[in-house]
Amino acid sequence: MNNWNEFNFNTRAVRAGQVRSQEGEHSEAMFLTSSFVFDSAAQAAARFSQTEPGNIYSRFTNPTVRNFEERLAVLEGGECCVATASGMAAIFSTCLGLLKAGDHIIASQSIFGSTVNLLNTILSKFDVSTTFVNLNDLESWQAAVQSNTKLFFMETPSNPLTELGDIQAIADIAHKNDCLLVVDNCFCTPALQQPLSLGADIVIHSATKFLDGQGRCMGGAVIGTKDLVGKDIFAILRSGGPTMSPFNAWIFLKGLETLDVRMQRHCDNAEQLAIWLEKQQNVERIYYPGLASHPQHELAKKQQSRFGGLVAFEVKGGQEAAWKVIDSTQVMSITANLGDAKTTITHPASTTHGRITEEQRQAAGIQPGLIRISVGLEDIEDLKADLTMGLNV
Ligand SMILES: *Cc1c(COP(=O)(O)O)cnc(C)c1O
Repeated sequence: MNNWNEFNFNTRAVRAGQVRSQEGEHSEAMFLTSSFVFDSAAQAAARFSQTEPGNIYSRFTNPTVRNFEERLAVLEGGECCVATASGMAAIFSTCLGLLKAGDHIIASQSIFGSTVNLLNTILSKFDVSTTFVNLNDLESWQAAVQSNTKLFFMETPSNPLTELGDIQAIADIAHKNDCLLVVDNCFCTPALQQPLSLGADIVIHSATKFLDGQGRCMGGAVIGTKDLVGKDIFAILRSGGPTMSPFNAWIFLKGLETLDVRMQRHCDNAEQLAIWLEKQQNVERIYYPGLASHPQHELAKKQQSRFGGLVAFEVKGGQEAAWKVIDSTQVMSITANLGDAKTTITHPASTTHGRITEEQRQAAGIQPGLIRISVGLEDIEDLKADLTMGLNV
């Protein structure tokens, strides 16, 4: 096996982890098999007792899934990766693998809605409690530490307001208190940000988003050390079962080959769209880390190589005006997914943040006029034209 760390990012993204079969296939093979055959009863026994390495059953290991895991681990700069059935399965397996009843988590307020639900309604049943803090208020992370705190959990940039958290500073607070820092790196992907190199202990992915990049299938991943990920979290997958299908692993594997090219174009388009939105009369405020007006533009320049594909903005006239912009689009898709070649447009206040109270929405900064766009790979001029109609009524 090559030492992939000696190669640059794009070479790793195209080639790392591939082991060719005796057929000599050029593209990665898809191993659609639930179990593996042994030469003899003795070999079966050796595999089960783990005195001989090798595949047994696809809930434990599968060559296509392993290929995806090795490639993503190398891209994030981690020792080990395990692939999961979805992004939520990655977060759930991480919590189950690293925590026990009585433990405490500190999480940023601005994390994915299903993650908040998981922490508040499911983990709480098993006596794992969570305190939510303001992502960029470092003192609030320290102040929330209890004697039973084990895990810090954050996303940066946040959804939909693109708020940033300082990974290095939060990792320092976590480590000073003997806690682990988990970073959900879904929005940036390793092409733009590598949390492990900034001090994070675990990186989580929803592969459903930019890693696939074409909105085809669900998947997730956890990356970190051999001890934490290869033992504690892998044990949950092996016995709990939220594993990635080999078919999906193959799609994500091919997605990784074009990850950087796609991310560069997502960033180009998003940057141009944000600059253009700044000049539109009916746009009140824009949230994009690449703009000098973004309160954490300097931090974004420091911890990300570019500014990402998500842009949020508020239009004048509240929900009615926002819905008008959304309904006037003909190119963009009105759908909840993000990280797709196809641009997606959503109204957070009535969808992803629709079930919380008006008071909670205000506290979270989700205004009725807010629109979120995951900028895709279409021609930028067509995207601008698509928004112009609804913005100028
Ligand atoms: C979508 C998403 C998830 C959950 O991933 P699924 O693949 O939908 O389970 C987790 N975190 C973030 C930031 C996401 O955008």
